[in-house]
Amino acid sequence: MTPEDLKPLVRTIPDFPKPGILFRDVTTLMGDGEGFAAAVGMMADKVRACEGQAIAGIEARGFIFGAAIAAKLAMPFIPVRKPGKLPVPVLAIDYALEYGTDTLEVDPGAVADGSRIVLIDDLLATGGTALAACELLRRAGGIVAEALFLVDLPDLGGAERLRSAGVAVEALLDYP
Ligand code: 5GP
Repeated sequence: MTPEDLKPLVRTIPDFPKPGILFRDVTTLMGDGEGFAAAVGMMADKVRACEGQAIAGIEARGFIFGAAIAAKLAMPFIPVRKPGKLPVPVLAIDYALEYGTDTLEVDPGAVADGSRIVLIDDLLATGGTALAACELLRRAGGIVAEALFLVDLPDLGGAERLRSAGVAVEALLDYP
């Protein structure tokens, strides 16, 4: 399978979660065993290529891909969580959304000092979520080797935003 073979497995839903948004739904790809395994395999190859040592996944869809990749490579998995979920003192970061702000949290004890972390999420849009997660991982003592996504929406500028913050970016699929 090639990344192009995965494209038809991603479902496009107009007007979700609000009018005017074209939502790229990756749950249909997860629902295809061969497609899911191929996506995880291709992403794992990219983690190997950038010499990642640990995987961080952004809640919630980043957990699904990130945990599968980490298990395949027998690497530690670091959950980057929504607020109030971790049972230990956390490092937290607030970031701007279109309306308002949101927060991500990480257990600093989950990040080995100086380890090369690959950040995983299902999709890169404006880059705000991933940028906040990278900043959090850096504050926790990690080195972000790469931010890796199943899908990039290049017109929304996320990859450029991450690259100007010094983060390498890759994605399997893009939807210009
Ligand atoms: P950003 O912060 O880059 O603007 O938005 C990316 C975050 O929102 C990711 O965590 C991603 O899961 C979610 N997201 C935004 N748009 C979409 C979409 O069209 N499809 C999916 N699956 N997730 C999206």
